[in-house]
Amino acid sequence: MSEEETVLLCPHCLKSNLKVVGGFMGTQYLCKDCGYQGALILEVDEKDVPDQD
Ligand SMILES: [Zn+2]
Repeated sequence: MSEEETVLLCPHCLKSNLKVVGGFMGTQYLCKDCGYQGALILEVDEKDVPDQD
């Protein structure tokens, strides 16, 4: 198995500006860009991260 770098992306704005927030519901993520918060996030290979230009 090769080591794969994965990146967590916000499903709304596709940015990786996520902060992990623990809660009674379990791990959730807060996007500091668009304000999205939830347990559902995108996990992609680093090489598949869309350009943010
Ligand atoms: Zn976002």
